[in-house]
Amino acid sequence: MQQLTREEARRRVHAAGLRATGPRVAVLRLLASSERPLSHSEVTDALGDGDWDKATLYRNLIKLVEGNLARVASQVGGITRYEARSDGDESHSHPHFACRDCGAVKCLPDTALTLPADPHWRKVLADAELQIVGRCPACRGLRSPTAKRRIKRKLVT
Ligand SMILES: [Zn+2]
Ligand SMILES: [Zn+2]
Repeated sequence: MQQLTREEARRRVHAAGLRATGPRVAVLRLLASSERPLSHSEVTDALGDGDWDKATLYRNLIKLVEGNLARVASQVGGITRYEARSDGDESHSHPHFACRDCGAVKCLPDTALTLPADPHWRKVLADAELQIVGRCPACRGLRSPTAKRRIKRKLVT
């Protein structure tokens, strides 16, 4: 994940052979700054207040994937989630953790994947979907103190 300035995002969209339209640049910046892959509806929640409707944002997500600027990171629970590809870095591929209880999907950039020596398989794994499924810390009850407090308050009222 990285913060992209508007100019950097425009440059990357141009370099991919696409027109740097407002929504396209905004979607790329949002994906690049997110710590986890985002679904279409999460993108709409974040950017949909402006002049861009759901369909426009969806078309631009697809365009970014076609232009190799974003990739489908996860399709757990029938929900497609997207993330930005980093600049020209083919070995960026990292596993994703998907929670089978709450459906949350998180990037695991620190989890190293040992790539096979065979160049064909290296290429395959560079954009393969690497997904680890289990129960996330929150669903295991290891909630943050604020989350705990919120639950307590709910029980009192
Ligand atoms: Zn969970
Ligand atoms: Zn990721």
